[in-house]
Amino acid sequence: MPALRAAVAGHQRDRYGLEYDPGAEVLITTGATEGIAASLLGLCEPGDEVVMFEPFYDSYPAAAAMAGAVARTVTLRPPDWSWDPAELAAAVGPRTRLLLLNTPHNPTGKVFGADELAAVAGVCVEHDLVAVTDEVYEHLVFEGVHRTLAGLPGMRERTIVLSSAGKTFSFTGWKVGWACGPAALVSRVRAAKQFLTFASGGPFQHAVAAGLAAGDRLVEPLRRSLQSRRDRFCDGLAEIGLEVFRPDATYFAITDIASIGEADAVEFCRTLPARCGVVAVPCSAFYADLSAAPSLVRWAFCKRPEVLEEAIVRLKALAVP
Ligand code: PMP
Repeated sequence: MPALRAAVAGHQRDRYGLEYDPGAEVLITTGATEGIAASLLGLCEPGDEVVMFEPFYDSYPAAAAMAGAVARTVTLRPPDWSWDPAELAAAVGPRTRLLLLNTPHNPTGKVFGADELAAVAGVCVEHDLVAVTDEVYEHLVFEGVHRTLAGLPGMRERTIVLSSAGKTFSFTGWKVGWACGPAALVSRVRAAKQFLTFASGGPFQHAVAAGLAAGDRLVEPLRRSLQSRRDRFCDGLAEIGLEVFRPDATYFAITDIASIGEADAVEFCRTLPARCGVVAVPCSAFYADLSAAPSLVRWAFCKRPEVLEEAIVRLKALAVP
């Protein structure tokens, strides 16, 4: 819908100072998930390599595989989810076509800092890579500042920026997302989207356009409420004895269950519903190597405060006496 493409262009201009032509440089997608798939299908050829940070949103390697591309990973390490620039340099080779970045980051809640983004941008420019940046949590930031990779020198002309209404407005089921970038790249993403879904939820697009036009008035209360839920929930997890890696953004928190004498996150998460009536996800789901992060577990706190309180009460059964 033209109204939503214009609203997305206005959002990128007002928030990041980046101009996109709503006609040629903005594409509406069926959630950011389709944006990711269409970007990889449209921009990669079979055998191309895609560099991504792990842990990753699990659709990344799946979408790369559908495109016939090969994923190369750079590992973020707790407690601060920092990474080694030498590992990034080593991950880039002659077949590397694209770098896929997610900030703010699921599952860690990391917000990539200015220096980190500059290092990523430097690699993209040096090796003439296309960047795809997934910014679906751009508004759900509690500490630090979210910056878009497209705003760095030399990046606007080589970057597809993805986002969606799902997290920003808490409308995850609406599946309205968007891709912004230079016309030559967006046209390739559009060519893939044409044969994935052709078009997406028309009536919802008008509502999202109105939401984006309303600016922070709608988003700020959600952000503040998630921040207080983060604080209460992470405090509760820590009271149980879990080592908590408090997130700077998003609505996920990672803990290390080794601190309560548990070793196997997959087994822990499989049995947790029966033991406590609570669910969580083993972080191995977000790594290429299933044996990586054997004791890390991701919790979601995008729940009503009373549900989070009840979860903490139930999880107290796990506390080491
Ligand atoms: N990217 C990331 C990093 C996510 O965590 C999610 C949702 N879990 C998505 C994309 C999907 O967004 P959408 O609902 O707009 O498809």
